[in-house]
Amino acid sequence: MFLGQMEEMENRPDNGLVVRVTGHEVWVDMGGTMVPCVQRGKLRGGELRVVAGDRVVATRPEREGGQGTIEEISPRTSWLPRWVERDNRERVIVANIARLFVVTSLRLPPIHYAFVDRVLVSAESGHVRASVVLNKTDLIDQREADELRAVYASCGYPVICTSAESGDGVDDLISTLGDEVYAFVGASGVGKSSLLNRIDPKLALETRDVGRKTGRGRHTTSFSQLYPFRGGYLADTPGMQVFGFAGTDRTGLPGCFPEMRPFDDMCRFRPCAHSHEPDCAVKDAVESKKIYPSRYESYLKILEEIDQRAARRKR
Ligand code: GDP
Ligand code: ZN
Repeated sequence: MFLGQMEEMENRPDNGLVVRVTGHEVWVDMGGTMVPCVQRGKLRGGELRVVAGDRVVATRPEREGGQGTIEEISPRTSWLPRWVERDNRERVIVANIARLFVVTSLRLPPIHYAFVDRVLVSAESGHVRASVVLNKTDLIDQREADELRAVYASCGYPVICTSAESGDGVDDLISTLGDEVYAFVGASGVGKSSLLNRIDPKLALETRDVGRKTGRGRHTTSFSQLYPFRGGYLADTPGMQVFGFAGTDRTGLPGCFPEMRPFDDMCRFRPCAHSHEPDCAVKDAVESKKIYPSRYESYLKILEEIDQRAARRKR
């Protein structure tokens, strides 16, 4: 290819939005039509794999029933990475999201701090703005819900309390959605599918009870998918039990906890890991209850996991 041609291609505006990727099959929304596409060889073999939410330059199929081709992936403005243990590497779950909703339940199962905090760390590292959704408010009294809301509100994350069962709070959530891409992440069982169905009943996502009734195991999706919603998109992500945080190392970690940032440069030692060092402003803030113990506990555990991963790499 001539250089002139290359430059021309690099300046082409994107004309498609990736809504689903399964294996080598990529579905692209091109001006409202869903077009199955394959990636150009140079993209397929490379490090940058296309993910749901990617904006792409694609050419339409030459004949009806054929496949289009993804020529280029536009630079991402935000991305949510996850550590995949089996592959021993990070993978982006969804890209270019205007806001991420981290869904957790207040009861049955109780609030899953480790999961939520790991997602939030990944979101911070990928420049994703996040909100926390506390679901199943019908199972808990208001006072207790307010106490749990304070944990994340104190970190600067907007918190929305919902009940997918009764519909309470769902309109509050909908009112924050515009014409961009909004992603939902949650541990299995927190009610993410029920909530998405409440937001848009047309989705008709399978929820756990349905699986029980038919006696079959529930079909859990293993890929992210974008659904059009009022001029924007809702992005559902795979349900999982654990979320492997990604996108940060030891020195970057305190920056992924917004409530620690004001204290980060007030410690005696710099850099300070805020774990065992004396005269640590972050530890003082935990003691004086300016930082929540559950958040600091997550911080320490993640720090430990960062070291464990590094040790495994050396072996
Ligand atoms: P997912 O795995 O996060 O997609 O969770 P599901 O949407 O499948 O819900 C798991 C279970 O929680 C199902 O039995 C739902 O009926 C129930 N559930 C979901 N949302 C609520 C809620 O707001 N309140 C109550 N009481 N149960 C809920
Ligand atoms: Zn410190």
